[in-house]
Amino acid sequence: MIEYTSKLPNLKTTIFTVVTNLAKKYNAVNLSQGFPDFETDPRLVQAVTKTMKDGHNQYAPMAGLLALRETLSQKTQELHGRYYDPETEITITAGATQAIFTAITAFVSKGDEVIVLKPAYDCYEPAITLAGGIPVLIQLESKDFKIDWEEFRNTITPKTKMVIINTPHNPSGQILSKEDMLELQNILAPTNIILLSDEVYEHIVFDGAAHESASRFNDLASRSIICSSFGKTFHVTGWKIGYCVAPKVLMSEFQKVHQFNVFCVNHPVQVGLNAYLQQKENYLSLNSFYQEKRDYFLNAISGSRFNYIPTKGSFFQLLNYADITDENDVLLNERLIKDYKLAAIPMSVFNIHEKDDKMLRFCFAKKKETLDKAADILNKI
Ligand code: PMP
Ligand code: GLN
Repeated sequence: MIEYTSKLPNLKTTIFTVVTNLAKKYNAVNLSQGFPDFETDPRLVQAVTKTMKDGHNQYAPMAGLLALRETLSQKTQELHGRYYDPETEITITAGATQAIFTAITAFVSKGDEVIVLKPAYDCYEPAITLAGGIPVLIQLESKDFKIDWEEFRNTITPKTKMVIINTPHNPSGQILSKEDMLELQNILAPTNIILLSDEVYEHIVFDGAAHESASRFNDLASRSIICSSFGKTFHVTGWKIGYCVAPKVLMSEFQKVHQFNVFCVNHPVQVGLNAYLQQKENYLSLNSFYQEKRDYFLNAISGSRFNYIPTKGSFFQLLNYADITDENDVLLNERLIKDYKLAAIPMSVFNIHEKDDKMLRFCFAKKKETLDKAADILNKI
């Protein structure tokens, strides 16, 4: 039998695969993994289909279709007031996951520390470990998931190479405010720390709040790689396409890795996306589209025994069940799937030492019928 030493000996299969498989097995309503259960705009499908018929079927340029990068440059300038040179400061990636993995691989070396705020989306730590880095974790309290900036400052050491933030945040649904970003900017200003800013839910922010992208802040922008996902923005998570922006000095290093882990990403989708992005409404309408879904879901479960604070961004809502049972969240979620036919994600999997705050995460990027079915079940618990 062949022998090897695992580079990730303690890593289990991602929770999203585990729970979605369980949901399928038990035919449960699936509000676990974050994906829409409705179709994308037929005009986008048509635009992409047309590009295939038009013959855009060979390699795209390494950094991505230039016309698409130009469109994204203009979009970032209009929304956040920052110019990124389409020639040298934007790369189209195979989803945000690849952008994050590539950024970490490009900059994190053996023994480097990377600060990760927990709860955290699950793709950061394995990438840090594979690069030989050390994830340095800070646990946020589930009452409001606010960052204690003094604690954050005290966590920085001479070995800190990178900090990862995520706003709007998966799984908490919180957003970083302008004040948060200014604090972060202040703390990082005297350092050489790179900021990896995961902004995949940039267009899903509620109640009139602004998305405070790292690109809005001069000093932060000068040290940031910012990741976005078309999968989230255009309801096409299966297309696995996104992009990242960064100043040239960082992007040139990023591209050294990008060119050898994918070289480029699929060409016809890039042509189609570029056409679709010309209608700004296609992404500017997303905040209200998802706010309506959040409100519909919360209204439908307002009579339930779950407690919650309405989510501020992303398409996830946390529900606290401490008033109902003190069961462990992973076990409760399994029971929910098997006995009640409803799947969520237990929050503890995103926390340090699987800290169990008696919360489940529900994805409301679903049709009204799906949300109705889920609400009926939740109201009975
Ligand atoms: N970051 C966060 C916070 C996410 O929720 C996701 C979910 N998909 C990703 C990154 C990865 O995005 P993509 O599907 O574009 O790879
Ligand atoms: N981002 C999605 C979520 O948080 C899942 C992505 C995945 O399945 N890897 O649910």
